Amino acid sequence: MPAHVLILGGTTEARRLATALAARTGIRVTTSLAGRVSRPGAVDGEVRTGGFGGPEGLAGWLRAHRVTALVDATHPFAERITANAAEAARLTGVPHAVLRRPGWDLDDDWHPVASLEEAARALPRLGRRVFLSTGRLGLAAFAHLTDTRFVIRSVQPPEPPMPPHCELILARGPFSLADELDLLRAHRIDVLVTKDSGGAATAPKLAAARRLSLPVVVVRRPGLPPGVRESRDVDGVLDWLAGVIPPGGACAADTCP
Ligand code: NAP
Repeated sequence: MPAHVLILGGTTEARRLATALAARTGIRVTTSLAGRVSRPGAVDGEVRTGGFGGPEGLAGWLRAHRVTALVDATHPFAERITANAAEAARLTGVPHAVLRRPGWDLDDDWHPVASLEEAARALPRLGRRVFLSTGRLGLAAFAHLTDTRFVIRSVQPPEPPMPPHCELILARGPFSLADELDLLRAHRIDVLVTKDSGGAATAPKLAAARRLSLPVVVVRRPGLPPGVRESRDVDGVLDWLAGVIPPGGACAADTCP
């Protein structure tokens, strides 16, 4: 019976892990996607889509599909599913690890904040033409800023309420430094707002802001649930899995039928 690894996905790292595991014999790999993006990229192995119905729903899925190991490779800001995964692992005893890429290193002109609301409070003293690249959710936090012009970039269209003066750019990274410099100059941006997502795909906007000496408001990542094992890269998860899945990929004792 092959070992079954469930990856909670939606990130580049999740896709890379699925590719690495799908190439191995004795391992069945399923990636779970939330279903928010209409045309998600190809993923190796099996894919399931949609919420589980909270931690109990996820725990039921782990049992029903005889999952040997659970890897939460969701985005660092996907706080709810990360809490659910930790709780489902506790309920079922399925070994569980989080794959979370490192955050970015703080730069001189970065203004770390704890939330989008705090970012909105910081903006009026930093600039009036804002490049907002925090994703399509939570834009209501900026809706009261009537004197500020926003350029908002997201993969999927955001839902209202949105700031009254905004221009929407629907685009999916990665973006080059040249693209980001063009965007910041064309819209005469004077401040950038981003989440501390980490990773290379969206880092050129930070390099572009530095090149143009623009301040950057950075929303810090939420913490992980207590006691959760964290790996910073795919190799770290593969090392952990090697200790969880016996050679040959047979299921772990406590999840064998
Ligand atoms: P979230 O707030 O943490 O989760 C909300 C609910 O969505 C969860 O309770 C769960 O529903 C469902 N869900 C989330 N991720 C799922 C997954 N991989 N598979 C199945 N169900 C999932 O999540 P979010 O911030 O909206 O992010 C949704 C997805 O987009 C994640 O997969 C994440 O990796 C990806 N993403 C998020 C961001 C971001 O900035 N937040 C950026 C890029 C990509 P149930 O409780 O019903 O199980």
